[in-house]
Amino acid sequence: MAEPSREQLRELQARLQQLQQELQEQLQLSKSATAAVTLDQTLVGRVSRMDAMQQQSVAISAREKAQTRLRKVNIALAAMESGDYGYCTRCDAGIGYGRLRAQPEARLCIACQDSVDRQ
Ligand SMILES: [Zn+2]
Repeated sequence: MAEPSREQLRELQARLQQLQQELQEQLQLSKSATAAVTLDQTLVGRVSRMDAMQQQSVAISAREKAQTRLRKVNIALAAMESGDYGYCTRCDAGIGYGRLRAQPEARLCIACQDSVDRQ
């Protein structure tokens, strides 16, 4: 698979930096949504309390996803600095621009990702 050119790397870096910023904003915004459900139980009924807890659990799982992705984005940006970016961390093959474009934080080539997913 063709390795990304210098120009493509710059583009991927910009995408990663943008992702990093978006995820940080998302995490900032979701802080309050995931705060413990402290509704006044004397005022709200059981149903709306369950609603609130449901919303909270959706918010928490979205937040966990964002945190995991942000970690990967940070690792990818660090790998860019050290020149390791774009190579599979498992087999050392070039990951390929097409895959990196779709998922700039990818650290595994498609073949390795497949076998990890199947495990
Ligand atoms: Zn691989």
